[in-house]
Amino acid sequence: MRTPLSVLLKDKGGKTHSITEQHSIFDCASKMNETGVGALLVMENDILKGIISERDIVRKLFSTNNDPTKVLVQHLMTKDVVTVPPTMTVQEAMKLVTEKRFRHLPVVENGKLLGIISIGDLTRWVMLQQEQEIAALTGYIHGNG
Ligand code: AMP
Repeated sequence: MRTPLSVLLKDKGGKTHSITEQHSIFDCASKMNETGVGALLVMENDILKGIISERDIVRKLFSTNNDPTKVLVQHLMTKDVVTVPPTMTVQEAMKLVTEKRFRHLPVVENGKLLGIISIGDLTRWVMLQQEQEIAALTGYIHGNG
């Protein structure tokens, strides 16, 4: 739980999927479907302009002009993106996503995007750590430690 996010990123790789503000929601949903991710970063020349997730599409599309080929990413994205440093721990990141009620954390250092950590990545990491601890304790109890 005290592991920094940089360790998870090293494991996962820094690949992120992005889209621009000018793309349509139709293109955005197609890209989410192709890449299998629940959120895309909205980028313009390496600058992070926003984030758009499946939830934005589901919740906001029907309250606007609901033609997904006409509504643009900039209309539904969240502009104030919360980013985190690679030194943030898994525990701190878990607390943040729980408090803020979102599932994606772009990791940024000195203005450079290093990758994105999802709540799924955090949960997998915590489960793996717990399994290893249980195995170590079980081994200790049975005298294999
Ligand atoms: P999610 O749970 O990540 O699918 O997102 C739920 C809502 O929070 C959506 O409106 C997203 O645009 C927004 N959101 C997701 N991640 C972030 C973030 N890191 N900073 C700000 N808003 C976010």
